[in-house]
Amino acid sequence: MILSHPLAWFDGIDFADADVTRARIAAEFDGWAPELTALVTDSDTAPVLRSIHELPDRHRWVRVPGVTLLGDAAHVTVPGGEGANIAMFERSEAEAAAAHETVDLVFGTGAPHALASLFAGGDPVGDDVTQSR
Ligand SMILES: Cc1cc2nc3c(=O)[nH]c(=O)nc-3n(C[C@H](O)[C@H](O)[C@H](O)COP(=O)(O)OP(=O)(O)OC[C@H]3O[C@@H](n4cnc5c(N)ncnc54)[C@H](O)[C@@H]3O)c2cc1C
Repeated sequence: MILSHPLAWFDGIDFADADVTRARIAAEFDGWAPELTALVTDSDTAPVLRSIHELPDRHRWVRVPGVTLLGDAAHVTVPGGEGANIAMFERSEAEAAAAHETVDLVFGTGAPHALASLFAGGDPVGDDVTQSR
């Protein structure tokens, strides 16, 4: 389960209060199967905010003598199944664009219907994609 909100949205949650946090997060999944929301409400551990950070897809750094950026320090993007072995900007740009498509497919406004439609051999952005959850 993932929440796609700007960081500022999470500022309104006191993560030090685990029970309130669980209830606040679970409320975002109102209407989901109880077996799934129980993963939030019945958890033994306190919720931890783990944010996903990214640079713009075509981001370039100004060259600075003596400084070399490697890996995500150079081109961090949303997780889409690639990243660890990408070293060149051209490759990382293409993968960053693909990663955004994947994240939108799995977590975007058409989820989960868009992904289910794709698995069924249909159009992931077809007319049947009308719900966000
Ligand atoms: C949820 C998720 C799923 C992913 N799935 C895949 C996948 O399936 N396939 C794939 O190829 N890639 C995947 N990636 C991307 C991949 O994990 C990254 O591209 C890769 O880990 C980047 O390696 P890195 O060494 O550049 O950075 P990191 O792995 O982030 O390493 C940076 C290290 O620096 C440390 N650090 C930070 N600040 C300091 C400091 N001030 N002092 C000392 N140490 C510091 C951090 O603790 C960290 O250990 C995924 C990423 C995420 C978030």
